[in-house]
Amino acid sequence: MTNLKEETQFGWNFENSYSLLPKSFYSCQNPIPVTSPELIILNSPLATSLGLNIEELKSKDGEAGLAGNLVPEGALPLAQAYAGHQFGHFTMLGDGRAILLGEQMTPSGERFDIQLKGSGQTPFSRGGDGRAALGPMLREYIISEAMYALGIPTTRSLAVVKTGEPVIREMVLPGAILTRVAASHLRVGTFEYAAKWGSKDELRALADYALQRHFPNIEDDENCYLSLLKQVIKRQAELIAKWQLFGFIHGVMNTDNMTISGETIDFGPCAFMDEYDENTVFSSIDTQGRYAYGNQPHIAAWNLARLAETLLPILDDNQDQAVQLAQEALLDFNKLFNRNLLTGMRAKLGLFNEEEGDVLLIGDLLSIMQKYHADYTNTFRALTFDNPTDTVLFGTQEFKEWYQKWQSRLSGQQETKCSALELMRNSNPAVIPRNHRVEAALEAAVKNEDYHVMERFLDILKEPFAYSQEQEEFTSMPEPSGIPYRTFCGT
Ligand code: AMP
Ligand code: MG
Repeated sequence: MTNLKEETQFGWNFENSYSLLPKSFYSCQNPIPVTSPELIILNSPLATSLGLNIEELKSKDGEAGLAGNLVPEGALPLAQAYAGHQFGHFTMLGDGRAILLGEQMTPSGERFDIQLKGSGQTPFSRGGDGRAALGPMLREYIISEAMYALGIPTTRSLAVVKTGEPVIREMVLPGAILTRVAASHLRVGTFEYAAKWGSKDELRALADYALQRHFPNIEDDENCYLSLLKQVIKRQAELIAKWQLFGFIHGVMNTDNMTISGETIDFGPCAFMDEYDENTVFSSIDTQGRYAYGNQPHIAAWNLARLAETLLPILDDNQDQAVQLAQEALLDFNKLFNRNLLTGMRAKLGLFNEEEGDVLLIGDLLSIMQKYHADYTNTFRALTFDNPTDTVLFGTQEFKEWYQKWQSRLSGQQETKCSALELMRNSNPAVIPRNHRVEAALEAAVKNEDYHVMERFLDILKEPFAYSQEQEEFTSMPEPSGIPYRTFCGT
C-alpha cells in the first residue's frame, strides 16, 4: 500500500486525536485493499463542506482512497474498541468491519471522524468477514442523508464505492464500502468497554476526551463528569424526540449504537413508519418488540442508565453519593424527552403557545390515527394542506369531533391561521424515505446497476419541507401486500 504524495490533492486535512487515548482503546489497522473499486455515489455538498476536492475524489486515486486501497497522508487508520449491550446482553464488540482514517479538520474549523465501513477484517471481527454489501451501504447513505435533511442529528454519508468483490450472506452480493462522517464514533459502548476492562485512569481519559470533543464549555465544571452525563442525556432526549416526531424507528438501539454526540448512528434494520402504530417493529430479529417505535424512549433511558453506571467511579469517591447523582441525572431524561416531544407535536399542529389541554388533544389524534391505521406522515401533511378529506380516518365521527376541538384551539391563539399553517409546513415533512421507495431505489442499483432511481430519490429527499409538485408521487403509501415490511440486520 502506498501513501499518497500530495495530501492537498484531495483536501484531506487529518488530525488523529483519538489515537492519543490509551492504546487499549484501539488497534492500529489499515483497511484491507479490494480488487476493483468503483465509485457509485459521492456526496458533493458534504465533500465541499469538509474541504475536499470533488474532482480529485472522483479520479482513480480518489476512488482508491475511498475504497481503502490508498491511505491518505495524515491518516492513522485504526479500529476502535468498544463493548455494548445487544438486546440487553453485554458483549465485547469493537469495529469489526470499519476503520477510522482520522478526523478531518474542515475549512470552518470543525472536526469530523472519517470512517470506512466495510473495509475488511480487524482484530475485532470475531469471525466476520469485515465486509459490507452494496444494498445496505446505499441504504445507510439514503436514510442518513434523508435524516440530515429532516434536521435530525445523524452521522452522514460521503461516498459509496463498490469493491468488485462478492460478499457471502444468504446470497452472494456485491461488496461495497461506505465513507461515514460523524461528530465522533464515541458510543455508550465505548464507556462500557472502559468501565469493564480499563483502569480508572483510562475511564477518566475517555471521559475527558468526550468532554473536549463534544462539550468543551463544561470541561471546567466542578463535577465535569456529572455534567458530561447530563449533556448526553439532554442530547439523547432531543434526538429520540425527533425520531418520534418523524416516525423513525432505529431498529437496533443497542448501547454500542448510541452515540455520546447525540447523533443517530448505524442504519441497520431502521425504517420510517407508514401507518401510525406504537407497536411498529420492522427488524426481523426483534421478535419481542424491544425496539418498537413506542418503546424507543424507554430503551434510550435504559441505555443512558448503562452509561451512568460506567461513570460511577469518577462521579464521586463516595459510591452512595455517586449513585445518587447518577439517579438524579437520569430522572431528567423523561422530563426533557417529554418536553421536546410536546414542543415538536405542538408545532406539527400549528400551536404556538402552551395550553394544558394540549397533551390530550395530541394524544387523541394519535389514538384515532392508530385505530384507523392512518399514515403518520400523510395525516399531518393533509392537516398542513388544511384539507383532511381523502382517508378513512378523516371520514370518521371521532376525527370530525377532534378537528372541531383543534380548530377552536387554533382560533384561540393570537397567531393567524396562516402562520399556524406555515409553522406546520416547517414541521411536517411532505416526503420521508418510505420503505417501498427505498427498496425500489436499491433494487435498481443492486440488480440493474441503474443508479438514476436512487439519485432522483435523493434529490427529492433533500428538501423534505418543500411541498413541491414533483414530490407528490413520492408521498404515496405502499400498495397493501398483506406481508409486513421487514428489515434485516445481516448487513
Ligand atoms: P452493527 O450491527 O453494524 O451495529 O454491528 C455490531 C457489531 O458486529 C460491530 O462490532 C460490528 O463491527 C460487527 N460486525 C457486523 N458485521 C460484521 C462483519 N461482516 N464482519 C465483522 N464484524 C461485523
Ligand atoms: Mg453498530
